[in-house]
Amino acid sequence: MRICIDPGHGGKDPGAVGRCENDDLCEHDITLQICLHLEEMLHNAGHLTYLTRRVDRNLSLPARSQFANRYHADLFLSIHCNAAYQITAAGIETWIHPFSSVGKKYADPIQASLTATFSDHKDRGVKEADFHVLRETVMPAVLVETEFISNPEQAVFLSKDENQRKIAQAIVEGISHT
Ligand SMILES: [Zn+2]
Repeated sequence: MRICIDPGHGGKDPGAVGRCENDDLCEHDITLQICLHLEEMLHNAGHLTYLTRRVDRNLSLPARSQFANRYHADLFLSIHCNAAYQITAAGIETWIHPFSSVGKKYADPIQASLTATFSDHKDRGVKEADFHVLRETVMPAVLVETEFISNPEQAVFLSKDENQRKIAQAIVEGISHT
């Protein structure tokens, strides 16, 4: 399968910013690390992978969807960290475009795999939204909100390479179950 991997945010757009051990923790760094692990694991599983960005750089939303469309990806996978005003908000959720049955075909097993791997994390389910990258990509598209970077406990969770690898592994396993 041809899979377009999209690390959310980048460059002048840090995404959501949390705090970890008195340092700022930026969403764009976490998403890139997870996606680099995803690239390696998906490649090892026999997939062709295309990253919308491999370094810390800014990329518009149209640039991301056009990239996926240009490479005729079979699946678009966007990785993000969640944020909320309430710092206790926590959990894992996966987004698809409204009524996208092809998106749901991937989102359900990905969400199930993530919440099975991290059974002590809240399962916030598969949700629908009219996000640009879900709407403008012509292939099945899924956006994973891995955890809340705004939650101090989950920011520590997200900062750890071991967990970033486990998140990537769970997503790869989810894709293999479609
Ligand atoms: Zn984001």
